[in-house]
Amino acid sequence: MSETKPETWVTERLHDHYAQSLRADAVLSDSMTEHQRLKVLQNGTFGRILTLDDVVQTTEGDNFIYHEMMTHVPILAHGAAKRVLIIGGGDGGMAREALHHASVDHVTMVEIDAGVVDFSKEYLPMLSQGAFDDRRLNLVIADGAAFMRETDEKFDVIIVDSTDPIGPGEVLFTDTFYGHAARALTAKGIIATQNGVPFMQGDELTGTLRAFQALFTDASCYLATIPTYAGGPMAFGWGSHSPEPRAVALDVLQARFAEAGLVTEYYTPEVHKAAFALPGYVKKLFP
Ligand code: SAM
Repeated sequence: MSETKPETWVTERLHDHYAQSLRADAVLSDSMTEHQRLKVLQNGTFGRILTLDDVVQTTEGDNFIYHEMMTHVPILAHGAAKRVLIIGGGDGGMAREALHHASVDHVTMVEIDAGVVDFSKEYLPMLSQGAFDDRRLNLVIADGAAFMRETDEKFDVIIVDSTDPIGPGEVLFTDTFYGHAARALTAKGIIATQNGVPFMQGDELTGTLRAFQALFTDASCYLATIPTYAGGPMAFGWGSHSPEPRAVALDVLQARFAEAGLVTEYYTPEVHKAAFALPGYVKKLFP
């Protein structure tokens, strides 16, 4: 009788009193990069999963929700975004979705860890889907906080696709970083930030909103639920020097979406507008 293989489960302990476990049918890679412990797991529901320091970063199965909502919402709200900056995003999924916009002619991606890019190219090509070879992409391997401090470039959309505020990602949740980002945005520019799951990480969102209220004319957040970011809907911080982009009318979004010719599995103009309708427990996190 063939021995049944013992099941291997990987547990993410991002939160103090709450964890999630994912069955690892195979561990495709487990290595130390210059900055983090990187694993690629195979899971029966989510396909390939990237973890950094044992925290789920993205999965083959549900990344479309996160990457569509962090790119199409700010880019379509802006309406004429040409220059996009991605801080983090080493798996290439954010660049993939941003580069679907023919109107975008330049994407700079500042990723601190070359190992994430290299391993993602090898084990998770379905995430980047050729984005790394797009001539519009300028990949910079550097600390996003240092880049933000030193750049004199201007961007229409800044997307902070970072890890959580632990380890190398911590600097990307500071007032200093946000202040440099505010300076690098154009007049109607928008910054969107990965701001965790407010039910579990409310303080993180409150801290970002406090900084954004001091730096931007318009400061808010929007929500989407990504199954492997456990604990409820994820919040995306929103900052802009203009109140117009967040207030863009549905019919204008519908026209822009049609014009862009995007093929999406989660984003629609209606979902876009609805994502800014915040439940009471999230509104309470506003300073
Ligand atoms: N979707 C994920 C989430 O919500 O947590 C983020 C995925 S992406 C892989 C996160 C990336 O941020 C990683 O590749 C990590 O190396 C990068 N990162 C962390 N700190 C950084 C920093 N200071 N500058 C640039 N990239 C950073």
